[in-house]
Amino acid sequence: MEEYIRELMTLAHKCDCGNDHNSIPIKKIVVANGAFADAAVFVKNKAFKHAHLIADENTFHAAGKQLSHHLTEDNIGFSVCLIQPDANNDVVADEKSLVQALLELPQEADVILAVGAGTLHDIARFTSEKTGVPFISVPTAPSVDGFTSLGAPLIIRGVKTTFQMTAPMALFADLAVLKNSPQKMIAAGFGDMLAKYTSLADWKFGHLVKEEPYCPLAAKITREALESCIDNVAKISIGDEEGIQILIEALIKSGLAMLLFGQSHPASGGEHHLSHYWEMEFLQQNRPAVLHGAKVGVSTTLLSDIYKKEFIEFIMNPERLAPLCDHQLVKNITENSQELNALYGEIPSSSQLGELLAKLGGATLPEQLGIDNDIVTRSLSEAHKLRNRFTALKFLNEAANYSKFISELS
Ligand SMILES: [Zn+2]
Repeated sequence: MEEYIRELMTLAHKCDCGNDHNSIPIKKIVVANGAFADAAVFVKNKAFKHAHLIADENTFHAAGKQLSHHLTEDNIGFSVCLIQPDANNDVVADEKSLVQALLELPQEADVILAVGAGTLHDIARFTSEKTGVPFISVPTAPSVDGFTSLGAPLIIRGVKTTFQMTAPMALFADLAVLKNSPQKMIAAGFGDMLAKYTSLADWKFGHLVKEEPYCPLAAKITREALESCIDNVAKISIGDEEGIQILIEALIKSGLAMLLFGQSHPASGGEHHLSHYWEMEFLQQNRPAVLHGAKVGVSTTLLSDIYKKEFIEFIMNPERLAPLCDHQLVKNITENSQELNALYGEIPSSSQLGELLAKLGGATLPEQLGIDNDIVTRSLSEAHKLRNRFTALKFLNEAANYSKFISELS
C-alpha cells in the first residue's frame, strides 16, 4: 500500500480540481499477517519511547495484548487505557469517554495506538488532536472507512457532529485479527462501502448544481474501492484472508480519498445523514447502538429506490422544476439532466443492494435493526437538515416543501 500512497501523491500533485491536496501525512500502511511486529518496529524506528494504547476490553483482548508483547520485545514502554462502556455496554465517543482518554494519557506517552474499530479511533483521534501526541491506527475489524481520514464523529450533548481532526501517522492491520472479528462487523464494513453508490452520486450532484467542491481523483479512488468490493463480494463473504484484505484495503482507500479531499464528501451523502439521524434517535431513547456500517447499508438500500424513482422523475420533469424559486438551481439541473439521470440511474436497485448485503449476513431493512417506520419516515424528511451538504435527499425535501407551499397558496 505504500506504493499506492506514493502513486496517489503524484496524481494529487497533477490534479487541477482547485482544492488544496494537503500531502497525506500517513507514512506507512501495512495490511498483513503479523503486522503487529511491523508496528513495534515502526514505533522503535521513530524513536518513540512510550506507546499509549487506547482500546476497550474486547479489542485489547483481540489485538492489544499481542501488540503489547511486540512492544515489550522491542523495549518500548507502554500503557493502556480501556475505555469503559456505557449502561448499554456500548463504547461511545461521548464526553465521558473523551475525558477518560484525556485523563489517562500519561505524561511520558509520545505516541498513541488506536486499537479498535471506528469508535475507539474517534476517541484516539480526538485525544491525539487535543494533546499533539501523534497516533497510529490499529484496526481490529474491517467495519468502517474512517481509519485513514481526518473525521471524528463525536457525540456531544447528545448530538453527533463530525469534527475534522487528525490523520494517523501509520496504520497496521493484522489480517488474522480482522478475520476473527465478528461477522456483523465485516458485514458493516461492506455496508459502509455500498454507501458509496449514493454518496458518489450525491457528491457529483451537489457539485453540478450547487457548486459543492469536487475532486475527480478522490471520486475515482472511492469508485475503484467500491468496485473492488462488488467484484469480490463472493470472496469477502467467505471471510478468508484474501476477502478480508480486499475489504480492509477498500475501506482504507475510501478513507484516503476523504483525507486527500479534506472532507467526507466522497464517502458520505444522504445515506449517511439518515444513519446519523437514526443514531441520534437511539441515543435519545437510551437504546443500544447499532453498527455504523449496518445502518448505512440499510439506508443506502432505502435511498436507492427513492433516488432512482422519485428523484429522477422530479429532475426530468420540467413542469415540476418550473415552480422552484431557485432559478439558478433549476437551470443547473436542466443543463445537466442527462448526466444526472445516468448518474442516479446506475445506482443498483434496492433489491440488488439487499442481495449483496444478505450475502454477508447484513441487515437489509430498517426493522431488522430495530428502526421502526415512524423513525424512517421522520428521518426521510428531517435528516437532510443535520448537514449543509447538498444532496438529492436535501433537494427532494426542499423542493417538495416549496411545491407544497406554492400549492397551498394557489
Ligand atoms: Zn461511513
